[in-house]
Amino acid sequence: MNIKTILLLISIILVTLVSCNSNEQSVQSNISYRGVVLYPNDIVSIGSSRLVQIMSDANLNLLGIHAQHRVENLAALREFIESDQGKVLLEECKNNNISVEYEVHALEELLPRDLFTEHPDYFRVDNEGIRVNDFNMCFSSQGAYNEIEKNLLEITKWLKPTTNRYFFWTDDVKDAFCNCELCSEYTESEQALMYENKLLEMLQKVNTEATVAHLAYHNTLKAPRSVTPKEGVFLEYAPISRNYSEPLTAEHKRYLKENLEVFPINTAHLLEYWLDVSMFSGWKKDNWTEIPWNKDYYKRDIDYYKSLGITSITSFATWMIHQQYFDLYGEDKAIEILNTYGNILQ
Ligand SMILES: [Zn+2]
Repeated sequence: MNIKTILLLISIILVTLVSCNSNEQSVQSNISYRGVVLYPNDIVSIGSSRLVQIMSDANLNLLGIHAQHRVENLAALREFIESDQGKVLLEECKNNNISVEYEVHALEELLPRDLFTEHPDYFRVDNEGIRVNDFNMCFSSQGAYNEIEKNLLEITKWLKPTTNRYFFWTDDVKDAFCNCELCSEYTESEQALMYENKLLEMLQKVNTEATVAHLAYHNTLKAPRSVTPKEGVFLEYAPISRNYSEPLTAEHKRYLKENLEVFPINTAHLLEYWLDVSMFSGWKKDNWTEIPWNKDYYKRDIDYYKSLGITSITSFATWMIHQQYFDLYGEDKAIEILNTYGNILQ
């Protein structure tokens, strides 16, 4: 074989490799994480095996389990995970290639409010200039971060996402960031990112694969500029206040695109509310409402997110994948919507 033939063979191999790689990239543009987010009580109401069957039938491969202090807190989440139903859930999800992660408003539990008496400096300064322990923390307080790390080490002994993605959100309220001298230089999004960067460092000490969500919603929709995400902090975009009969507003689209200039696109995660019966019911159990489902509107939204290159999408389906909802509005109808939801995501 002469040198020309060898060079030709090498060229053919290189061209083949490049073309395989570009095929791979086009495959990656599909939605790889297709999920729903539920409370433990949703799962308990229909049973873990039934949930896994529903998700598998709908081609869903990601379950987020939600907790927040006011409804079902971390203790309730732990109790469920360690119960027989919880063990069945984790086992059957594993057998059916469904990833499990935990999307929780945990800051109140990571930094207990009763520390305020001894350490007011751990907590925020409100809009009136008064230091208060109503919500969140002082995002510049190293003492607060030390306390958070101590509690995080305990929580991560039982809270183990199979995706290695951790979601320990700040409090579920608006206008609750810190106005102290150090924090007031930063926007709400930047203060949140300071906290998430710290979380990443703490979590990677116990799990080297750990990544952490930067939740962009309410006051944190605006992209952070003066604080840079550490490698491993990924965007989670949740357009909570949008109108579901209209396309995403120009403002929401702008915020999303600006965030995608700051955070990597390949790890960006969309948290939507298409199936969030708890939200459509105003979180009032005596007002258990049917979702305003419209397949065409939903597909329009998915096509938009896909066009940006987003590959991880989930929706709250709290109170929708729930026996009470099935009884009120029909299990077959609910399952049909879930099947459509999952199939369009693919
Ligand atoms: Zn502060």
